[in-house]
Amino acid sequence: MDKIAILCSGGDVSGMNSALKRFVEYAYAKNMQPYFVYNGYEGLIDNRIVEAHFADVAGIMTRGGTKIKSARSARFKEPSYRAIAAENLRQKGITKLIVLGGDGSFRGMERFHHESGIAFCGIPSTIDNDINGTDYCLGVDTALNVIKNAIDSIRDTASSFRRAFVIETMGRDCGYLALVSAITSGAEVCLIPEIPIDIHEYKGCFESQIRKGRDYFIVVVSEGLKNAPEIARWFEEELGFESRVSVLGHIQRGGNPSVYDRLMAYKFVTHAIDTLLTGNNNSVVCYTKSHFNFRTIAEVAFNKYVLDEDLLILGREQFAPSHCQM
Ligand code: ADP
Repeated sequence: MDKIAILCSGGDVSGMNSALKRFVEYAYAKNMQPYFVYNGYEGLIDNRIVEAHFADVAGIMTRGGTKIKSARSARFKEPSYRAIAAENLRQKGITKLIVLGGDGSFRGMERFHHESGIAFCGIPSTIDNDINGTDYCLGVDTALNVIKNAIDSIRDTASSFRRAFVIETMGRDCGYLALVSAITSGAEVCLIPEIPIDIHEYKGCFESQIRKGRDYFIVVVSEGLKNAPEIARWFEEELGFESRVSVLGHIQRGGNPSVYDRLMAYKFVTHAIDTLLTGNNNSVVCYTKSHFNFRTIAEVAFNKYVLDEDLLILGREQFAPSHCQM
């Protein structure tokens, strides 16, 4: 009987538990023995590799995070520890490994695969949606919905108190979360690395809006710019508008997985197992233009993700200070 393992590495996302459920079910359906590796690459090194059963995945679909834990592992960057990890898998007769993670995790897997010969398939999982070669990463939809709910709530209090709220989203250097959230929540300003905007250019327009009765502003900024306090100060000093910074932080990663993430988890895992069974032993499942496809780790992990041009056009149009309605 073929043996296959799964682990979660790097930042956790909602939908990982759905993926684990499908993994166990589909592995058994394909006559394989599934294994969980607890605690990411740390668990590979420490031999926390255990058989997975149906009972382990009962009732976990609705929970965010990951039942088998995730981790970052400094040790896995060292060849000697990767050799221990490979030996642990070999001892159990495990020949295939699925990793739910981001580009850092895939870079680690690229090395591990070449050194150990263990067949590998990656499933892009990060709320930042910043992995090259795929339009969608597991967890993004749930994170967007968490952000949407947060901004909708903040809008209520902003309008009641006549305030400007500067809301910082996650996303590292990628503006995807901030841009989609700003568009879909009707923010007045969106500041992301991909669309440089000088906040001063809004001054005349915002002064005019305030004269006409505007009593709140919603500004969405991506964490990569590190300028939320500075923008809040601008509203206070230049517009005389009381302002607050709201850093959404880790709430964006958690929560009940959306329908879309549950379904995508099922599809990603199905494609990962299918491709491993056909002998494709070193790839990442990607989702582009509404289709699944497979890319090399090198393509995915060693190239920078570029935001979708249609989205950028929409963002530039929506948030250009020159388009601000007086
Ligand atoms: P993500 O996968 O979310 O991008 P990280 O960048 O933190 O998260 O990477 C997760 C883990 O992948 C690291 O803690 C490390 O164990 C492993 N890793 C990352 N880069 C490498 C590398 N160049 N060589 C070996 N392992 C790596």
